[in-house]
Amino acid sequence: MVTTSAKVLSDGIVKIDGGSLFGPVPKVDWENSVVTDRRNRVTLGLNCLLLQAGGKNVLVDTGVGSKDNDKDRDTLGLVPSRLLKGLKAVGLSPKDIHVVILTHLHFDHCGGCTRMDRTGNIVPTFPKARYYVQRACWDEAVQPSVRYTSHYRPDNFMPIADRGQLELLDGDVEVLPGLNVIVTDGHAKGHQMVMFRHGGERIAFLGDLVPTPHHLNPIAFSAFDHSPEHTLERKGEVLRQALREGWLLVFSHGHAQRAGYLERRAEMSVLRAVDL
Ligand SMILES: [Zn+2]
Repeated sequence: MVTTSAKVLSDGIVKIDGGSLFGPVPKVDWENSVVTDRRNRVTLGLNCLLLQAGGKNVLVDTGVGSKDNDKDRDTLGLVPSRLLKGLKAVGLSPKDIHVVILTHLHFDHCGGCTRMDRTGNIVPTFPKARYYVQRACWDEAVQPSVRYTSHYRPDNFMPIADRGQLELLDGDVEVLPGLNVIVTDGHAKGHQMVMFRHGGERIAFLGDLVPTPHHLNPIAFSAFDHSPEHTLERKGEVLRQALREGWLLVFSHGHAQRAGYLERRAEMSVLRAVDL
């Protein structure tokens, strides 16, 4: 059963170095199941989730957006932003989005929050939306440690605060009926996943807690994780609960497979992929 009130929208792709994607897992363990290009990059999706909850249009994460520079385009293999085209295909324009929830503020999750207008000003892409992010995440983003300076780009989020559209959250919250955010930390301070209950279905947008189905491997985590130990612990808990309760999982960076259900096969959790 897949609800019609939830749809994965792609903002395009990003190409990330294979080593940094899998942390301590050596290439010999993943090279047979993951394709790399000649620069050792793995192609990842930039997945966002569109939901209808409580009569509101909700967007979870916004991809890299359209403000990317030439260096990014080459290093990260970016393609033109597709998010707004995806919205248009389902009959929505930016002003129809009421709520934007951000798992965290790394550039590949919040770049589409803002855009450059005709006069060269950076403005919120969704003029009528409230943008929800954890306060801990915001505090880190506006004053990042040197390790994360390149991940946080003020143009992606400062205009939201400047226009009074920012909602800072402190911990787990029900944002709308049936729509909850759950703080996981780990990947970034204040990183949150999103849980949507609709009918009998539970849909979890995992953010970068489990960025791709390859990260179902219990010891795989990205080199960008703020607190890897915490990621591994929370990932284990979340995936055990997902398996037990039959959640539909959506992966931020899944490319060939973007969503699916966990199944237990030969003592391992594997994904039964579905289109969403
Ligand atoms: Zn990411």
